[in-house]
Parts: sequence; C-alpha cells; structure tokens
Amino acid sequence: TGKGLIVSFGEMLIDFVPTVSGVSLAEAPGFLKAPGGAPANVAIAVARLGGNAAFVGKLGDDEFGHMLAGILKENGVSAAGINFDQGARTALAFVTLRADGEREFMFYRNPSADMLLRPDELNLELIKSAKVFHYGSISLIVEPCRSAHIKAMEAAKEAGALLSYDPNLRLPLWPSAEEAREQILSIWDKAEVIKVSDVELEFLTGSNKIDDETALSLWHDNLKLLLVTLGEHGCKYYTKDFRGSVDAFHVNTVDTTGAGDSFVGALLAKIVDDQSIIQDEQRLRAVLTFSNASGAITTTKKGAIPALPTETDVFNLVKG
Ligand code: ADP
Repeated sequence: TGKGLIVSFGEMLIDFVPTVSGVSLAEAPGFLKAPGGAPANVAIAVARLGGNAAFVGKLGDDEFGHMLAGILKENGVSAAGINFDQGARTALAFVTLRADGEREFMFYRNPSADMLLRPDELNLELIKSAKVFHYGSISLIVEPCRSAHIKAMEAAKEAGALLSYDPNLRLPLWPSAEEAREQILSIWDKAEVIKVSDVELEFLTGSNKIDDETALSLWHDNLKLLLVTLGEHGCKYYTKDFRGSVDAFHVNTVDTTGAGDSFVGALLAKIVDDQSIIQDEQRLRAVLTFSNASGAITTTKKGAIPALPTETDVFNLVKG
C-alpha cells in the first residue's frame, strides 16, 4: 500500500467476560471470549483504519493461540512476527465488575506463552522495517520477554523507527506497585511518543493533581509528544514547543474497553508517514480530533476489537 509499517509489540490474550454483569467470577453463569491485549488492539486499530500493521509477540500453540492469530490476519494485521510456544499456553484473563463495584481479576499466566518470547526468536527483519514501533509494559514483567522487548525496541530504533509507548498499567499483573512503577519508568526515556491515562499519570508521578506541571514532570529530552487521555474529557498534548487540549466527542458509551488503544492506533496511523505533524500544532490538533473520535466510537460497542472503527466511521463522527 506504500504506507509505513507500524509494528506493535507485546501480549495478546483472551478476556473471559461474564455473560451477566454485576456478579462475582464464581457466580458467573457463563463467559464471553473477548480477544484483547493492548498491543494487539493497537495493531488491529491501525489496520482497520487502513494502515499497515504487524503484531510481534508469542502465543500458545493451542486452540486459543491459533484463534488469536486468525483474528489478527482477518483484520489485515501481518502475523509475520508471531511465534508459537510449544509448551506454554495462551494467556487468559477473567475480568468482572462485581455488584459491590470492585473489579475482580483472575489470570492464567504461570507462565503464559507471551511471557516466554525470547530475544533470539524475534523477526528482526520485520522489526527493522517499522516506521513506528509501539509497545506497552506488560512485556517488562518477566524474563525472557523483557529482554526480547528491549532488543526489539533497540533494533527498531537503530533502524530509524519512531518509538511509541503506552504503559497501559494493569496493576494486578505486577508483583507490587513499586515494581510496576520502577519497570514502567525504566524504559521511559527511550520513547518519543508516550500516551498515559490520567490514572497512570497519578500512579507514575505519585501526585493526585492532574495538571500541566504533573504531566511535564514526566517529560524527557528524547520525547516529542506526550499525551494524557482523560476519557470523556478528551486529551491533553505536550510537545517541546506547545501544549493544549482537545475535547472528546459526545457518544452513547456502553463499554470503554479499548478506547485508549483505539486512540493510539488512530494517532500512529495518521503520523506514520509524516512525523512533522507533531511539530505543527494545527495539524496535530486535527489528528488528535481524529484520535478522540476513534476512541469515542470504540466506547459505543461492547468489547475492544469488535468496536474498533474504520476510517469512514471516524470521518463521519468528526464531520458530525
Ligand atoms: P484508556 O482506555 O487508556 O484509559 P481513555 O479512557 O482516556 O484511555 O480513552 C482514550 C480516548 O478515547 C479519550 O481521550 C477520548 O478521546 C476517548 N474516550 C474514552 N472514553 C470516552 C467517553 N466516555 N466518551 C467519549 N470519548 C471517550
């Protein structure tokens, strides 16, 4: 297509969501299978918007792993960077919002295939052809995946890719909050585009004031664009030269899962072939309007992947 390749690195898994809301996992009468994993969602978001995307990560050589690889391919995402682990199984998560308002999580990760990706297994040719290399932080939790993450990131960078980071905090997966904060920040100064949510901003800075000063305390010299997403309040952007905010779209929200991934996918799809947009506030604001619209549409349907929009869907919301 002539469009620059966006490689998204990390985990892909299946969320099991109770068919009835407001019950504990033990009380759930049944579960729906919802494919997810933030980096995989971003890859599919890019492809659905007409971009060129590849996913790099490891799946189990089992029914669920092949199902997930099939979903990537069906959506036009290159599977050339996927490895299948012969021993471990695909990651699974059971997630529910109980009647008492608490979120309950259960994970199959002991260890799951995604955590076993080794540096020597990486498809470096694919990674080095990326114009943008995007990643999260779940792949930093354990070895050997952590080393694979660092190696892939450095190979992409050396080959000239723009590095994009969405830490996508999933606190229950980490041994402790302290370790999560430390590991997330350990690769902070590599990324040139970083997107955090307001919740992550609070977590990473330890400040409960979500203002410009708090956001800019996360600034570093290699950074070109820092984004703070605020759900129904849109997003804030910071560059070396300017800062501002872009309002969200009013939509009929039913499930916010994947909104952040959709936002990031839209942003990357729009800047991959012309990174000078980041330095031009007017054009950047137009791209962030597009990204907010993509995020908003994703909240109007249940699940992440089924709710990711096409470019036409986004244009229609932007035009109003
Ligand atoms: P994350 O999913 O990472 O927590 P957000 O929830 O902030 O990220 O969502 C990312 C973007 O999606 C927001 O900046 C906004 O543009 C859009 N969005 C999210 N929730 C809503 C909502 N309820 N109404 C409209 N837009 C939303």
